[in-house]
Amino acid sequence: MNELYAWQDELWHRWIGLRARLPHAILLKGPQGIGKLDFAMNLARSLLCKKSLGSELACQDCASCRWFEQGTHPDFRLLLSGAQSIEMQESSETQVSLILKSWAKRIAEEALDEQQKKGKKPSKEISVHQVRTLANFINLSTHQGGHRVVLIHPAEAMNANAANALLKTLEEPPERMLIILVSHKPQQLLPTIVSRCLILVAPMPSLEASSNWLQQQKYADPVAMLAQAGFAPLLAARLAEEATGEGEYGLFLQEIKQPAKFDVFTLAEQLQRIEPFHVIHWLQQWCYDLGSAKLTGKVRYHPYLADLIKNLSSNIAIFDLLRYQNELITAKREALHPLNPKLLFESILLSYRHMMLGADR
Ligand SMILES: [Zn+2]
Repeated sequence: MNELYAWQDELWHRWIGLRARLPHAILLKGPQGIGKLDFAMNLARSLLCKKSLGSELACQDCASCRWFEQGTHPDFRLLLSGAQSIEMQESSETQVSLILKSWAKRIAEEALDEQQKKGKKPSKEISVHQVRTLANFINLSTHQGGHRVVLIHPAEAMNANAANALLKTLEEPPERMLIILVSHKPQQLLPTIVSRCLILVAPMPSLEASSNWLQQQKYADPVAMLAQAGFAPLLAARLAEEATGEGEYGLFLQEIKQPAKFDVFTLAEQLQRIEPFHVIHWLQQWCYDLGSAKLTGKVRYHPYLADLIKNLSSNIAIFDLLRYQNELITAKREALHPLNPKLLFESILLSYRHMMLGADR
């Protein structure tokens, strides 16, 4: 997500044209699955960046960009429903960038906490409480003396009370503040909200641009995938991940995080419809986090599982981990034309368990 999608260049120029006279609110609308949220995140990050020259993407290097990357920038707020934030934590990186996962983490934790304490299912709505917490944010002066940005996704997830509370803010917009509403279904928004927004229409990518992007993600048959997804490339990738089962990535995480318990052969079977390349990539990210947690106490790809990963990593011998990571590199080279994906999965998962339980041998 650090880069724009190839089909968003023109939209970016449109935004740059607006930047000199910043509107108070933008409604970014278009079909689901074409990268609107990533675009909005790029927009927010570049506006907060200390080095971006007004026409460029965020530098990714200044203090502001680093805070943004870690999900801690004091001048940015992201509003999502509890259900969506949990879904994001369990999505693969093709679907949800690490930056988004960091920002969604706190909302997901709160939703899970509520679920545990009160037995409430994570809500699919953005609540009035969430919108009201913006009031504090709005009334504070900006931390960095620059802009403040609020991003609401998707805006139609706000329930009626939440929408009315937001309307009050839009009626008296604070200085140097930008509210970005991202919407797949703008017809469901209050007309009084829409009329206060400057509207940006996110373009549908061409078939060629979509196919190229899917090919880069190592999908073999992009055109057929796109046809099933209304030609929205990100949605096509998500459907492809889901169609192969009940979200294999979630299942993979579920099992892999309890190395003493999981059944290697069952998991290998459950994963066999996924491209081996992807499964090995998941394992590589998981091992990266194990190593990083062990050496620095930090994780990169699974911030949501940081504590658990730290616990797991304390039992691993770093030499075993390095050896396993080498094994994955070799497997990835061979994975482009595996004779039998299931056997390949069994082999790398057995090695994984061997490494994880090494301390108990
Ligand atoms: Zn920067």
